[in-house]
Amino acid sequence: MKNEHIPLVDLNAQHEPLHEELTTVFQEALRTGRFIGGPAVEAFEREFAEFCGARYCVGVGSGTDALRFALIASGVKQEETVITVSNTFIATAEAIRQAGALPEFVDIDERTYTMDAEKLREYLETRCSRDPKTGRPIHRQTGSRVAAVIPVHLNGQTADMDAIRALTEQHGLKVIEDACQAHGALYFSSRENRWKKAGSLGTAAAFSFYPGKNLGACGEAGAVTTDDERIARTVRMLRDHGQIEKYHHRIEGYNGRLDAIQAGILRVKLRHLPAWNEQRRRCAMRYTNLLAGSEEIITPFEPAWALSAYHLYPIRCADRDALRLHLASRRVDTGIHYPVPLHMQEPYLCGGRKMWQLPRTEHVAREILSLPLYPGLRADQQTRVIRAIRDFRSAGATAALQSA
Ligand SMILES: *Cc1c(COP(=O)(O)O)cnc(C)c1O
Repeated sequence: MKNEHIPLVDLNAQHEPLHEELTTVFQEALRTGRFIGGPAVEAFEREFAEFCGARYCVGVGSGTDALRFALIASGVKQEETVITVSNTFIATAEAIRQAGALPEFVDIDERTYTMDAEKLREYLETRCSRDPKTGRPIHRQTGSRVAAVIPVHLNGQTADMDAIRALTEQHGLKVIEDACQAHGALYFSSRENRWKKAGSLGTAAAFSFYPGKNLGACGEAGAVTTDDERIARTVRMLRDHGQIEKYHHRIEGYNGRLDAIQAGILRVKLRHLPAWNEQRRRCAMRYTNLLAGSEEIITPFEPAWALSAYHLYPIRCADRDALRLHLASRRVDTGIHYPVPLHMQEPYLCGGRKMWQLPRTEHVAREILSLPLYPGLRADQQTRVIRAIRDFRSAGATAALQSA
């Protein structure tokens, strides 16, 4: 089909072959009347913990719940500081504020788009002094104690966790992985000399099962993974109004549970996740090969220590907005993840003024463009995407020749 519309994401492609299995989950919930908690939730928690190589998994209502609960359960206190990046979905920073803490942004690596450990070091060593009692960093200007770091495994690729962990251990900080885009992503830890999964790389990790993620529910869902029994126990309380048993509340919590239908759906889909991620990687490699040698386009960089789950395939182009319009005219959908960094958005400005200088984050945000990528994307569709990009390049070259 020459001018077939190519969407950014196609969920039907993955659900159609599973139609019967997924419908059975719903029928089973209707039959048993178990909608909240119960055996489906517990089974999914066991299976997802095993998938991630973590001791515990606690299912919650969303990725945002997972981030908020992981922070609180890790012991982050009111008015403490949590360091993250600005090129992420707002949930990362919202969760920090909702846990009562203050978000702090550091710049990213220009090639991987994830937290630059050198910028984290610079922040801890030049902007902070030491608490004489605990040795932990205190931000000089605000007097706020730094409690934790949230590296975001963006686009399906983990941050450089060895480098980040070396710093957080030195400074006594917790590490909460934002693994909401990284189900099944792998990181090679040099100090442990082995590949490890996202979700097993920090104090705790937060996952989202929003429908469009690599592992998506048919509604809202999320999970916290951790090796720490105490954190798992606290997240269990937090998701269920602080209950230790029915109507006995040890703390005030939230309504943040994973429902049984979503857990059942996630169990069905988890079995397919490795194959889907493999398909995503194959599609990504195909794009990268087809775009090789292009001067205008920068393709995603995968360091030797990363095996990306390719949640997204973002290219970079200096003339991004024009390329996006051109692709739209060829019926190829694209996305921008994310167009406005958080430190430039209303909730993080101070009297309209920017509080952080993050030149790399801002530069990258102007150039990134996500191409269609999902399990089931066909080779001929990819070829059409690439042809459309090539046409744009030649149009640009023609214009340059004409103006010369
Ligand atoms: C999707 C996402 C979240 C939030 O997950 P929800 O399930 O929508 O609450 C948080 N962080 C990142 C990086 C995400 O992509």
